[in-house]
Amino acid sequence: MGEGMPPEDELRQLARTIQSCTECQLHQARKLAVPGEGPADAAVMFIGEGPGFHENEQGRPFVGAAGRFLEELLGSVGLTRQQVFICNVIKCRPPGNRDPLPPEIDACAKYLEAQIRLVNPRIIVTLGRFSMARFFPGARISAVHGKARPVGGRTVVAMYHPAAALHQPALRQTVEADFAALTPLLAAAVAPPADADTAADATQLSLF
Ligand code: URA
Repeated sequence: MGEGMPPEDELRQLARTIQSCTECQLHQARKLAVPGEGPADAAVMFIGEGPGFHENEQGRPFVGAAGRFLEELLGSVGLTRQQVFICNVIKCRPPGNRDPLPPEIDACAKYLEAQIRLVNPRIIVTLGRFSMARFFPGARISAVHGKARPVGGRTVVAMYHPAAALHQPALRQTVEADFAALTPLLAAAVAPPADADTAADATQLSLF
C-alpha cells in the first residue's frame, strides 16, 4: 500500500483491493464486496459484522433495515452517517447471512486493521459480537455493552447489533439507552477543536 499517500487515497486504493479480493471463499458468491465508507478523518468508526442482502447488491454498508435503524440511532445523538466511518469485520456477504467463519474473519482482518490505522478514529463502536470480539476477546456482550473502554489509545464501545435489536423490543430499548448514554462522548469527539473559530478568524484576517 502506497506509503506517504494521503489517507483518503490509501483508503480508496484499499477499497479497490477489497472489491477484487479472492482470498476467502466468500468472493465466489458475492455480488459486490462492501469495503465501507465515510470521511478519512472521521472521529468515530462503527464496525458491523458483514454485508447482508442489500449491502451485497449495492456495495455499501448498512443500507437495509439495520442501516435505517443505525441512521435513527445516529440521529438520536445528533450525528449523520456522513460524519462517521462505517464498515464491517468481513467485507463480503456470507451465503444466506450465516455467521462468518474464522478463516473468513482472518482473511479480512488486514483490511479492517488498515482502515482503523488510516482513519485513526478516537472512538470505535462495535455492532454485534463479531466486531466486539476483535477488541474484547472472550467478552460477553450482555456484560460489556454500552461501556466505553480504552483499547490501544482509542475508546471502544461494544453495542448490540442493530439487526438483533430490530426484532427484540427489549434489546431495542437497551441499544437506544446505550446510544443516549454515549451522547456526550460522541458529541465531544466530532466537535471541532475549541480554537477552530479563532483559527478561522485568523485566516480571514490574514486575507486582508
Ligand atoms: N449488518 C452488518 O453487520 N453490516 C452491514 O453492513 C449490514 C447489516
